[in-house]
Amino acid sequence: MPTTLEIKDLHVSIEGKQILKGVNLKVTQGEIHAVMGPNGSGKSTLANTLMGHPKYKVESGDILVNGESILGLPPDARAKKGLFLAFQYPLEISGVPLAQFLRAAYRSLRGETPKNADSKGVGGEMISALAFKKKLEEKLKEVDMDPAFAKRYLNEGFSGGEKKRAEVLQMAILQPAIAIMDETDSGLDIDAVRKVAEVVAHMAGPEMGVLLITHYQRILDYIKPQFVHVMVNGRIFRSGGPELAKMLEERGYSWVEQEAAATAT
Ligand code: ADP
Ligand code: MG
Repeated sequence: MPTTLEIKDLHVSIEGKQILKGVNLKVTQGEIHAVMGPNGSGKSTLANTLMGHPKYKVESGDILVNGESILGLPPDARAKKGLFLAFQYPLEISGVPLAQFLRAAYRSLRGETPKNADSKGVGGEMISALAFKKKLEEKLKEVDMDPAFAKRYLNEGFSGGEKKRAEVLQMAILQPAIAIMDETDSGLDIDAVRKVAEVVAHMAGPEMGVLLITHYQRILDYIKPQFVHVMVNGRIFRSGGPELAKMLEERGYSWVEQEAAATAT
């Protein structure tokens, strides 16, 4: 059975300010959904809330994975259920090499802790350093990243494009059932967008669903969504197919905002 992510009448606030005002959305593993919308409409709020960021308070509504609420679960438990978030602004973590970070994330996701390893602390269920190194090398190639990045501290001194590629590398290694990507195209030049998008398009398929958050239509030329949703002022204002993204590109967002304001109660 494919994994499903269901968002039901979700209301979310940050520091007492209501941001999401009743979001409904269902994403099934294997589908590609795009969420578009003007700046400040609540797209990152939705992404961060799905992953369980503690700053975002769910006031009402629910988030279900395979029919079960995940609202009480911390981010790592949500990851175990198959969710992954590629950040709009990836953090720099000095002192932690990318490779070490990825191996720790990979093991944690698979429940591989030193506790269930054998007496030597390796083997058993745990992926060996060597096996992981091979996997990492393979994935680095897949995302077209220089292997030298594996030794560098996580995102430290990475360019905007390199940070986004490091997020996609994480995705390639962790292989989530549903990947939430928050403006992976933002801040990248056209060539960098194309490169990152082609990798994601290659990864997307029956094994991976994508909830692709984007302000601009251009990334959708490479990662082609079946469903496009427009978020305005904390709600999904309209849903449709790829033609909706084209229309937004041609007409901008002001008409959506005006219409949404006119129909708001
Ligand atoms: P988007 O990703 O669509 O640009 P966001 O979800 O980042 O939108 O922001 C939605 C709204 O929430 C904006 O009005 C923004 O100012 C507000 N907001 C975001 N983060 C915070 C915060 N930490 N404290 C207060 N308001 C916030
Ligand atoms: Mg955002």
